[in-house]
Amino acid sequence: MSRKLSLLTMTTVAALGLSTGVASAGDDRPGTGSPGAPGIGDPYFPLDGNGGYDVEHYDLDIRYDPATDVLQGVATITARAVHDLSSFNLDLEGMEVRSVRVGSADATWVREGGELTVTPAKPLRAGQKYATTVTYDGVPETITDALGTSGFMHTDDGAIVAGQPDVAATWFPANDHPRDAASVTVRATVPAGLEAVSNGVLRNSRTAHGWTTWDWRAKEPMATYLVTLAIGEFDLREYVADGIGYWDALDPDLFTMDPDPATEGPSVGELAEGSLARQPEITEFLSGVFGPYPFRASGGIVDDLPEFQFALETQTRPIYSSAFFSDPVSGDLVVVHELAHQWTGDLLRIDEWRHIWLNEGFATYAEWLWLEREGLQTPQEAFDNIAADAPPEFWELTIGDPGAATENLFDIAVYYRGAMTLQALRNEVGDEAFFAIVREWVASQAGGTVTTEEFIALAEKVSGQQLDELFQRWLFTPGNPTAAG
Ligand SMILES: [Zn+2]
Repeated sequence: MSRKLSLLTMTTVAALGLSTGVASAGDDRPGTGSPGAPGIGDPYFPLDGNGGYDVEHYDLDIRYDPATDVLQGVATITARAVHDLSSFNLDLEGMEVRSVRVGSADATWVREGGELTVTPAKPLRAGQKYATTVTYDGVPETITDALGTSGFMHTDDGAIVAGQPDVAATWFPANDHPRDAASVTVRATVPAGLEAVSNGVLRNSRTAHGWTTWDWRAKEPMATYLVTLAIGEFDLREYVADGIGYWDALDPDLFTMDPDPATEGPSVGELAEGSLARQPEITEFLSGVFGPYPFRASGGIVDDLPEFQFALETQTRPIYSSAFFSDPVSGDLVVVHELAHQWTGDLLRIDEWRHIWLNEGFATYAEWLWLEREGLQTPQEAFDNIAADAPPEFWELTIGDPGAATENLFDIAVYYRGAMTLQALRNEVGDEAFFAIVREWVASQAGGTVTTEEFIALAEKVSGQQLDELFQRWLFTPGNPTAAG
């Protein structure tokens, strides 16, 4: 999912650097540092993320009242300066900022568009670790774009958070780009009787004065868009399988939803339950492809908001639209897809959004491997079917650099042509080299950011073959690569 970044916003932010003096000539004097950049350097989204620091941890103290939709937050962001900083930016859309502190001292701050520029009382030194505490509140804005509704979505009994590429900034101040991953603690306080579910491990929940605080801790670093929060009435199920702690959250209303009123069949809730019950089996299968499961926790969240029409690989706890649970195969496949992303997308983060096919191509290819395991279809059959049936416009997008528009970044070709690229690679190098490439890709890049160029280089190294032409044809050349001539 993507949010509009208007030219107007970019222009006004560019002007801000001059009008507020944060980039004044004096900043170059020794000991005062220079301002951190307002963007991390992704050409698709120039203002996403920020420069000058690396976040190590987000501690999010959130209170949310579904009766008013108001979120009150205290975000403590522990970061390390990468150069001497006179000021730095955080990304935050909407919301009212009440105070900002750096360390124990009040900081000054200005806002323009989605940029919150913080000037600490004393400049920060390169390498210095510092905590920024932002107190803020407001009704988080839901995102509507070419793919529908995403971001912070208000439901009938709470809220859910899911979206790409830059949704975190709608509900907490962030270095909102996958290049900067951090561990996350979410303590969500909600009216007693409701659940609040986030990433990682549930440490505890405590009720006092009519409010319950749910304390979630995700130790493994994650990209900010992978932080989720689901508030509402949920059946929360906790279990352990193969050493992994699972927390599944299902809206009880799903059990009264019938996916096909024409026939007597299981409810959406029963179908979701059935597919989530296969998570340990799916995780074991995917571990055979990608290597050991990289996190200590897992599980899934399913809510019943009709406008929410996608699923997202929120780290350790994917969130699913109820629409996927129409039949067992569809339900299993979406779980396979989002769990595959735990390796390709989450553990391995794209360095820039143009590399999105590395996320979606692999997750789709994992679905194809699963279909083969279930005896339904081989990856080559999936490849052949698309080669034969896809309409001409399917072949026009160059998925290696699809463009920043939401409808391009998440075009179906990024998924299917991405998976076909992997099948084409497999056909070229053979099964043994192909699966060695996949395992080595994950093992060598674990916890880091990845690019298409790095993948091509690794594929050539492991296979010992020259593969430029293959990838050029599949990723960067419009048209059907399987067509004769
Ligand atoms: Zn995906």
